[in-house]
Amino acid sequence: MAEEKNAATRAIREQMAQTQYREHSTPLYLTSSFTFDSAEAMAETFAGQREGIIYSRYNNPNVDELIAKACALEGTEAGFATASGMAAVFASIAALVQQGDHIVATRALFGSTHQILTNILPKWGVSFTYVEPDQPETWPAAVRENTVLFVTETPSNPGLKLVDLAAAGKLCQDHNLLFVVDNCFATPVLQRPAAYGADLVTHSATKWMDGQGRVLGGLLLGTQDVMDKVIAFCRHTGPAMSPFNAWVISKSLETLHLRMKAHCASALAMAQWLGEQPAVTQVHYPFLTSHPQHALARQQMTAGGGIVTFELAGGIAAAQRLLNSAQLCTRSSNLGDTRTILTHPATTTHSKLTPAERASVGITDGLVRMSVGLEAVADIQQDLLRGLQ
Ligand SMILES: *Cc1c(COP(=O)(O)O)cnc(C)c1O
Repeated sequence: MAEEKNAATRAIREQMAQTQYREHSTPLYLTSSFTFDSAEAMAETFAGQREGIIYSRYNNPNVDELIAKACALEGTEAGFATASGMAAVFASIAALVQQGDHIVATRALFGSTHQILTNILPKWGVSFTYVEPDQPETWPAAVRENTVLFVTETPSNPGLKLVDLAAAGKLCQDHNLLFVVDNCFATPVLQRPAAYGADLVTHSATKWMDGQGRVLGGLLLGTQDVMDKVIAFCRHTGPAMSPFNAWVISKSLETLHLRMKAHCASALAMAQWLGEQPAVTQVHYPFLTSHPQHALARQQMTAGGGIVTFELAGGIAAAQRLLNSAQLCTRSSNLGDTRTILTHPATTTHSKLTPAERASVGITDGLVRMSVGLEAVADIQQDLLRGLQ
């Protein structure tokens, strides 16, 4: 039996074959297409009888290397890399449904995922029902005769609600549903949904995987069976990742374990410190004992993640004052960066939701989302203190 290496080791060493130059770091293959020795070799490659790379919309050495590393991290059999996280989320659903199908999804999904379910899929006759992420006992009642998918995301953005992955796996097994998880917030370092029976895991590689705010990217990772359908969908609809972005993200995965460890330690320290500030009425962080699903967090995650959200008593005015007073932390909608980022969801990422919709996913006027970076915790605290006084 082949020796099973640690996932962190494989994310560093799962490298494409060296060229004749025996380079140490992976070269970049900026080429749209590949060539063949003969017409016969070309025909055999197209027929799948011979190994070979045809065209970068299908495969590319840099993209293949990234997929191999991501599969090693997630514990999945096959993958496809896309130009953005949303291209991956869209393909994860669109490749697996047909007209008349129904989806059960946990409320509190990423904003654009909510748009796909509410505004795009209904055009093709695909419907959905939302269930509460933290009430698994209510999920079976939402399953219909024509339900084919269970779509979820945990922890959720920005409410940090968790979905019980074991309960979701059981629901999917009992009702013969495909189980699709957006694992962007946790990353495979903290949580591996495939171990709970997820058929397909998606990532916005734009976030923690690149981790340095440089490129967009998405990943689809799953069982060979399901990925065969997803890969066929992607090859023909064309959301492929650029080789350059794959080269950047592949290098980033070599430090994902190290970075996530540091992000999580700083985020926990920030969450505890924020809880002591008089201006802060509530702090949300999965590894704080005050989180309503703390036991579940300990069960299915190895650390709490890099995102902390907190509520200020003064509503929008107080939240905007805090963002405006920041001199070190950055005002941006992105997350998963070495730099600490502050976002005010109610007036930006979630401003298109009605106040009632915002309330249903826990987005209050005074809620601030912080993506904790790798700066010294004391410097982040000092920066926030000005706006909290
Ligand atoms: C950012 C994000 C996405 C979308 O990813 P893009 O790379 O911006 O397209 C999807 N899901 C979650 C949870 C995200 O945070």
